[in-house]
Amino acid sequence: MKKSVLIAMTGLSIMCAGCGGGQKANTSAKQTEADTVPADFKYEVDAFADLEILRYYVPGFKNLPLEQKELVYYLSMAALEGRDILFDQNNRYNLAIRRTLEGIYTNYKGDKSISDYKELEVYLKRVWFSNGIHHHYGEEKFLPAFSKEFFAEQVKALPADLVPVKEGQSVEDFIKMITPVIFDAKVMAKKVNQSGGDLIMTSANNYYGEGVTQKEVQDFYNAMKDTTDLTPISYGLNSRLVKENGKLTEKVWKVGGLYSPAIEKIVFWLEKAEEVAENSQQKDVISKLISYYKTGDLKTFDQYAVAWVEDLNSQVDFVNGFTEVYGDPLGIKASWEATVNFKNVEATKRAEIISTNAQWFEDHSPVDKRFKKETVKGVSAKVITVAQLGGDCYPATPIGINLPNADWIRRDHGSKSVTIENIMEAYDAAGAHTGFGKEFMWSNVEEEMIKKYGFITDVLHTDLHECLGHGSGKLLPEVDPNALGEFSSTIEEARADLFGLYFLADNKLVELGIIPTADAYKAEYYKFMMNGLMTQLVRIEPGKDIEEAHMRNRQLIAKWVYEKGKAENVVEYKVRDGKTYVVVNDYDKLRTLFGDLLAEIQRIKSEGDFKAAKDIVANYAVKVDQKLHKEVLDRYKTLIMKPYKGFVNPVFELVQDNDGKITDVKISYTEGYTEQMLRYSKDYSTLPTYND
Ligand code: ZN
Repeated sequence: MKKSVLIAMTGLSIMCAGCGGGQKANTSAKQTEADTVPADFKYEVDAFADLEILRYYVPGFKNLPLEQKELVYYLSMAALEGRDILFDQNNRYNLAIRRTLEGIYTNYKGDKSISDYKELEVYLKRVWFSNGIHHHYGEEKFLPAFSKEFFAEQVKALPADLVPVKEGQSVEDFIKMITPVIFDAKVMAKKVNQSGGDLIMTSANNYYGEGVTQKEVQDFYNAMKDTTDLTPISYGLNSRLVKENGKLTEKVWKVGGLYSPAIEKIVFWLEKAEEVAENSQQKDVISKLISYYKTGDLKTFDQYAVAWVEDLNSQVDFVNGFTEVYGDPLGIKASWEATVNFKNVEATKRAEIISTNAQWFEDHSPVDKRFKKETVKGVSAKVITVAQLGGDCYPATPIGINLPNADWIRRDHGSKSVTIENIMEAYDAAGAHTGFGKEFMWSNVEEEMIKKYGFITDVLHTDLHECLGHGSGKLLPEVDPNALGEFSSTIEEARADLFGLYFLADNKLVELGIIPTADAYKAEYYKFMMNGLMTQLVRIEPGKDIEEAHMRNRQLIAKWVYEKGKAENVVEYKVRDGKTYVVVNDYDKLRTLFGDLLAEIQRIKSEGDFKAAKDIVANYAVKVDQKLHKEVLDRYKTLIMKPYKGFVNPVFELVQDNDGKITDVKISYTEGYTEQMLRYSKDYSTLPTYND
């Protein structure tokens, strides 16, 4: 599970690299010079459409021991090799479109000042960003602003070997096939459709073959499930389900199976990583992952996940594989993603304090006793520095990750939870001085509060969400973990967010010494309400509903507490000079309401109350106030901000002596967005254009 980017929206608190709870302070007087963000580090890289590209610094990398640097290097290579897999998972024409556009872009000889060319460049940048033709967040297809005629002309002008035609297909037929996929809003309109109809037939992702229906998918996997199995595998996680001769069959993603050329490369780099593993436990983790990639066996995947979650001592860590299921409306198939990271030791202390007190939080949470865990197990938490992003974590990346996802592994072995602090820092630094606070916050009081405590409370909220929120509570014994169906992601994210919000205002945090003052929580509360009631709407197109689970969750929470607190005027909308603002009048009461909602959301989850989940999502999470939405969009346009941000990776380079012995791994931060994307498409692109 991911905590995606809350701070990106409101990221306007200004914190120097030394702030944020003091975790960056160089506490021990070591002789190695602290490797912190240089004062002149430039975060901003590029901006286009609704996107801004940033760069992140990797503090501490230079001071890692050589073997760990090597490990980071090999894992980073493994993190890049799966990029094509994600493109193909997102839509079966994505690789064809990306390759065609890249061909045109790099071979173009015409006038670069014409609008068709410029729009092609923007479109290509968006395709790179979204790993395909659908918006990475809104899931809808975005349309190019260059003409069909220009496109056809440019394709015809390409050297024949650069047009990715299907076998036996002419260039003309290729153009005929691909044009509606790019230009027609109605063709493959949505990557993931959550809003009615046959969710599988109407989703443009490539997890299911042509003609496969939602009912067929559900019947297929229900028949496979053994409901008495207390440690079930994640059925269907790593395959495409297709119909062959009228019969459903899984095409497994593995060496020798679907996506084999890319997976072989991933395995190649993982084998290198295995050789320089820090310890035998980590070696075992990598070896199990390799064996899973080779066999596609989901039992092996679970063994790997258990080994991974139990490896808490290694400094370097990673995610690499078919992981999150947000891209499948039924939550069965996982998209490929990767991160490489290492522990931020100082900041981890803060998360560890939270973790070691997990039982206290569980005991004091406002939910019904029947839904609480008697013993909270293995809530490990750490703050990490990310060194490489890949697949579904690139270029748009979460700020926190909590894995594994299998319920029984979480129950029996706990989960590993991370906050990615260097990414949060980059958001925060880049978000300063945008005028966002002036435009949307009610007064100086809120602005000042957020400047002062915005970053630390945001980080803490993420810690609480990831370290405690997702791991808290339990299902009643007879409840099916999938009982909430298509509403489960929204409910689960709401649960974790509410847990964090509720405890952020608890004196316990002051007692534990991790929050500077008892009032600091108000900064996050204000931001959360303003975001959930209003400003997150900048991410939605006019007339559209909210679809994405994290956004639904935030509006659900904000609208619910707004409505329940209406009689006492806890939160209100105020209008000044024709502009709407969110005002919080009673922070204490707001906290109580967060607690009430947490109790209800936990009940829904614990009892598997599908109807209540459906109702609460329908009533609070989805619908958008059209008038307010328009106002927010208009006001946002006046700011120099983009609603979504993503990152380029640093570049690693092996330094070898004359005998070929590795003596260092260099890191650099100079590569641009286009440069990086073209390089990845050249060096890490092994899949055929069509993967059937
Ligand atoms: Zn989450």
